[in-house]
Amino acid sequence: MTISSIEAIALIDANNFYASCEQSINPHLRNRPVVILSNNDACIIARSPEARALKIKMGTPYFKEKERLSKLDVAVLSSNYSLYADMSKRLMNLLKNYCEEMEIYSIDEAFVSIYRPNDKNLYPWARKLRTLTYQNLGITITIGIGENKVRAKVANKLAKNIDYSAGIFDLARTKDENSYFKGISVDKIWGIGKQTSKWLKSKGIKNAQELRDMKENEIIKKLGVVGKRLQLELKGYKCLPIKKSNKSKREIQVSRSFGTPITKLEDLTQVLAIYAIQASAKMRSQSLKTSAISVFVRTSKYSNQKYQRVAHKKLINATDNTNAILKIVVALSKEIYNPEYKLSKAGVLMQDLINCHYLQKSIINYKSQEDIKKSENLMRTIDLLNKKYNNNAITWAITKKPKEWTINRNLLSHTSTTDIRKIPTIVI
Ligand SMILES: [Mg+2]
Repeated sequence: MTISSIEAIALIDANNFYASCEQSINPHLRNRPVVILSNNDACIIARSPEARALKIKMGTPYFKEKERLSKLDVAVLSSNYSLYADMSKRLMNLLKNYCEEMEIYSIDEAFVSIYRPNDKNLYPWARKLRTLTYQNLGITITIGIGENKVRAKVANKLAKNIDYSAGIFDLARTKDENSYFKGISVDKIWGIGKQTSKWLKSKGIKNAQELRDMKENEIIKKLGVVGKRLQLELKGYKCLPIKKSNKSKREIQVSRSFGTPITKLEDLTQVLAIYAIQASAKMRSQSLKTSAISVFVRTSKYSNQKYQRVAHKKLINATDNTNAILKIVVALSKEIYNPEYKLSKAGVLMQDLINCHYLQKSIINYKSQEDIKKSENLMRTIDLLNKKYNNNAITWAITKKPKEWTINRNLLSHTSTTDIRKIPTIVI
C-alpha cells in the first residue's frame, strides 16, 4: 500500500460503445440517433448521444417505442456482438501501446497504468489517445485519471459529467477535490452495491467525501477488508493492483434466449449440441480441456409458468473433443427437458477447465497415445477448415435440421470488420 505520485492509473471507457461501433462502420448512421436492441430485438440496450437527447430510455421494450422511433427517424439495430467484440479487440490493441500495464475490465473499459512526465501533466497524453482512437476506430473514449483504480473510476465519472472536461479528468491535479466528491452519490462509487449504499445512507453517508472521511472501524465492522480498501483508495492509497488478463478462464459458457420458445426434446437437444460445438472450439482455441459439463434450461422471466433445471456431469478424463462432449450433452439434455413448459433459454457450461499443457493423465479409462493423437488431429483439422472457410464449414449432422428457435435479429448490421465477404464495395 503506497501513495504513488509517479505512477498514475487511468480508466479508459468507450462512450456509447455499441452505438459508436455501428456509427463507425456505417457513415449513414453518423450524427443520427441510433438505438441497439437486446437479443431477439426485445429491449433498447444502447443509445447514441443523439438518441439520448431525444429522451429515449434504456431498457424500454422495442414494441412499445417502435412507432415513435420511426417517426423520429431513429436508426434501430439488432445487437451485432461479433462486431462489438472485434472493435473491442482493436481498441484494446491500440490502447496497450500507450501505457505501461493494462487490465481489460469489460468489452469497452480498461484500467491502465502510466508514469507521469516531469511536469506531472497527463492531459497531453490523454488528448493524444482520444484523437488516435477516434481517427483509427471512429470511437470516442473518456479518460479518468487518479492515483489508483477507485479514484480513476471517480475521475472517469467526472470526465463524463463535467462539460468543460472534454472527456478527460485528472483527479490528482484538482485543487478542490471536496467540491467534486460532494457531488458523487455513494451508490455511484465503484464497488458500492445496493445493500451497502442503503446501509451507508442510513448512517448519514451520502456522498464520496463523507465515505472517504467516515470512521474506519465502522466500515471494517460492516464491510470488512473490502470496505477498508475502498476507503483507502478514495483517500489516495493504492491497494488494488492492475490485473494483467492472461489468466485462463475458469469456465466457458454458451447460452442464448430463443426467438420462439422450445417445446420439443429434439429441438432442445439440437440447440444444446450447437452450443456444445461452439464451446468446444472455444476451449481448443485457448488450449483448455473441460473436466465437468453442465447444461441448463429455463422458462421466460416474464412467463407465469416457472421452470428451470440444471444437469451436470463430472468427467474422469478432461477433454476438448467435440464428439465426446456432444455425447454427454445429448444425454444431459434429456434430464432437463420437460414437455409441459415453453423453454425460452438454454445453455452449456464447460467447467473445471484445465490447461492442456499441464494435463494429468488418468489411469482409469486410459486411451492409447495413438487414439489421443488421432482425435487431436481431427479436431485441429476441423478448427483449421472452419477458420479458413468461415465458421460451420464443417460441423456435426445434429446441427443441420432447419429450426425456428434461432435468435431473432432482423435488424442486424453487416459484420464488415470480421467477414471478408461483407466488406463494402465502392462502385465508380
Ligand atoms: Mg462505455
